[in-house]
Amino acid sequence: MIPKRVKARTKGVKGYRSVMRSTKYGNPFPWKEHGKQWAVDQYRRWLVDTTEGQAITKYAKTELRGHDLGCTCPLDGPCHGDVLLIIANESLTKDEATA
Ligand SMILES: [Zn+2]
Repeated sequence: MIPKRVKARTKGVKGYRSVMRSTKYGNPFPWKEHGKQWAVDQYRRWLVDTTEGQAITKYAKTELRGHDLGCTCPLDGPCHGDVLLIIANESLTKDEATA
């Protein structure tokens, strides 16, 4: 199964790793003023440019790899979970994807 982003706290949705604000994977950038896409872009940059972000990237590659990621964002809008999903599953092997 290819990991995907799911809507957290939804009835019947389970088995995901939470990346909500309450976790270390939460997006530290507030979106209310500049919008969600802005916050997601900041987050992507933060992961690459900061020591803290690089540490999170490292965790994501092991802890989040192969798992669905849950956030409360609408699925059809921007979410930092999509960034983590890509990072965590970079070069996912076929075996891992079907496990
Ligand atoms: Zn989100």
